[in-house]
Amino acid sequence: MSEEISAASRRPRVPGARRAPRKVVADHSSDGRTATPVTSPESLTFRSDVTVELVKSSASDADVLFAARVSTAGEQSLAELSKDPERSKGLINYLMRDRHGSPFEHNSMTFFISAPIFVFREFMRHRVGWSYNEESGRYRELQPVFYVPDTSRKLVQQGRPGKYEFVEGTAAQHAAVSDTLRESYEQAYTAYQKMLAEGVAREVARAALPVGLYSSMYATCNARSLMHFLGLRTQHELAKVPSFPQREIEMVGERMEAEWARLMPLTHAAYNANGRVAP
Ligand SMILES: Cc1cc2nc3c(=O)[nH]c(=O)nc-3n(C[C@H](O)[C@H](O)[C@H](O)COP(=O)(O)OP(=O)(O)OC[C@H]3O[C@@H](n4cnc5c(N)ncnc54)[C@H](O)[C@@H]3O)c2cc1C
Repeated sequence: MSEEISAASRRPRVPGARRAPRKVVADHSSDGRTATPVTSPESLTFRSDVTVELVKSSASDADVLFAARVSTAGEQSLAELSKDPERSKGLINYLMRDRHGSPFEHNSMTFFISAPIFVFREFMRHRVGWSYNEESGRYRELQPVFYVPDTSRKLVQQGRPGKYEFVEGTAAQHAAVSDTLRESYEQAYTAYQKMLAEGVAREVARAALPVGLYSSMYATCNARSLMHFLGLRTQHELAKVPSFPQREIEMVGERMEAEWARLMPLTHAAYNANGRVAP
């Protein structure tokens, strides 16, 4: 088993965000007096990407073998781990194919994720085998980091619900999305700052903020719960049961999958070979 702790856990809360210096402007209230300064809209940061960092893990293919072999080898199973690599590969594939799922639970991966709130709303629907801790909008002032899709994001939905596809947007549509979102975010964040400046509690003022605001969390899972997540939140040519996730949560899923594949290559290969269905 491996144990890794990266420096990511010590980084700022929103890594990757380009932060312009915060400019403070005076806000004149209706009675003419100068109220507490309010952050100007120019200080907003716009991102099109997500942050996914593996901050801690104890996860390897050997963990699967160790758990599975207790059935037949009892406490001797630890000694069996590296004896016969081909047999080990075959055992992992058999467990995946026949959906013997519990041996894939004896491992742990903790990810730091920074993404728009609408991604987190989808993410936290995954209840089983997941633990979450998210930054608080009650205990700290939320930072002005907002999502604006870049030009690679397909913008136009065609077809009926449950059977549709996304196609490229025109340059005009991309410009409309970018301009409208930025304007909307600026208004929302100014409203938030204004309420804070008036002495309103953070937990009340945050009601003005939209789901395009970035949040951050730690999410801990095991290989089995991650496979279930990936089966639903990524599109893949090898998937026996296709899913149609929103692109932004898929971006998170792809990054998590890359980390997991590095930690547990045999398990990952067996997952793909068996149609990306969680055992
Ligand atoms: C493409 C897509 C579109 C979606 N659209 C919507 C939508 O429009 N509206 C919406 O509300 N949600 C939507 N969802 C969320 C979806 O309904 C699930 O909540 C989400 O995918 C989590 O899946 P899950 O429940 O299988 O995962 P988990 O909560 O992690 O559960 C894992 C498994 O445990 C079992 N399980 C967990 N809880 C129970 C339980 N209470 N009873 C019985 N078995 C249980 C099930 O076998 C389940 O598959 C969508 C998801 C996807 C992928």
